Amino acid sequence: MIDTFEVTNKIPSLGIYIHIPFCIKKCGYCDFNTYSGLDNLKSDYTNAVIKEIEGWGQKASQCVVDSISFGGGTPGEMPAEQLSSILNAVKKSFFVLENAEVTLEANPGTTTSNSMKSFVSAGFTRISFGAQSFSDRNLKFLDRIHAPETISASLDLAKIAGFGSINLDLMYGLRGQTLEAWDRDLKTACELNPDHLSLYNLTVEEGTPLYERVKKGEVTLPSDDTSADFYEHASKELSNSGYVHYELSNWAKPGHESKHNYGYWTWKPYLGVGAGAHGFLEGFRFENIAHPGAYIDASQKGSSPESVILKREYPGLDVSVADWITTHLRLIKGFEEGDFYEEFGIEIEVIAGQILFELCEADIIERFNSAIQLTPRGRLLHSEVAVKFLIYLSGLDLAKYAGKV
Ligand code: SF4
Repeated sequence: MIDTFEVTNKIPSLGIYIHIPFCIKKCGYCDFNTYSGLDNLKSDYTNAVIKEIEGWGQKASQCVVDSISFGGGTPGEMPAEQLSSILNAVKKSFFVLENAEVTLEANPGTTTSNSMKSFVSAGFTRISFGAQSFSDRNLKFLDRIHAPETISASLDLAKIAGFGSINLDLMYGLRGQTLEAWDRDLKTACELNPDHLSLYNLTVEEGTPLYERVKKGEVTLPSDDTSADFYEHASKELSNSGYVHYELSNWAKPGHESKHNYGYWTWKPYLGVGAGAHGFLEGFRFENIAHPGAYIDASQKGSSPESVILKREYPGLDVSVADWITTHLRLIKGFEEGDFYEEFGIEIEVIAGQILFELCEADIIERFNSAIQLTPRGRLLHSEVAVKFLIYLSGLDLAKYAGKV
């Protein structure tokens, strides 16, 4: 049983993530906390999520919410009235800003025109479609259930319904994908003129069917070097089409950057609601029970949001500093030394001067005035940079900074 706790700080603004763990079919590469064949749980799940939100509202009603994101899973396939009732519960439980960003993830082709209109009427402002590719062959390889032509149709419906911002997700590093084929996907996406594009390199996660296929040699994926070429090509192509590269995997038309995700990259507090959701509040990180059935059970038996929390931890200073730096480095503009000082009360140079020097020498990090950011080469090496910072900081005696940090 997790101890109860109160939200004591006056948090200036809070993001809320709501996990909807249902999909029509589980894709072979997906390691998210999602399930197919559990549609019978949707109604009880909605009630459990509402109960969790109301419980949090009693603890943190002083928090101002400026972004809400429904992810999954495929929230766009939930009945509109269930999503609307969840969103209404957030609005009743917290002070939600009038201009809050409210995002819905959806699959192309499966969200009807009427549902989209209902979502907009309920207060959703942004929709993100898991387009992935405009090639039928690629979509079949990824086990996606939509056909390429449904992407533009769904985008048109979303515009007509009145979403203020529309994102498309695309994937690269797919089996047999050539630079020419990737270029065609990018050009097709740009012709559709979405407000935002998220590009993801296909990663092979242990425990997925794709992992088994790669291990058996049934599937070979492009090399890291080829994926790096795809990334660099995308960067040029999207910049030529008026998109601003603002985060490692994200490009936006000016003013359409994702407010909710920006909160993650700048260490803003957020609540994670729903099965397997993660939250970050008052310095601790928590994670909810993953399986929707077990989550519903725990919710029905308990009387507070702690009932559905699986674990809660306060990361050590080394982990926190490494996480702060590497999360902020996801932003193309990086971060200001002053922001680090404001968070930890000590100059970054004192704690991490040596590793910053080494990474600058290796053309991975660059420093302008007081800004610290990844170089174009460093953007391809972000995961390695994160590991380097963690190892370096774990090897320091941070206790000597006690009282300062
Ligand atoms: S639709 Fe998305 S969340 Fe659902 S299984 Fe496929 S990749 Fe995972």
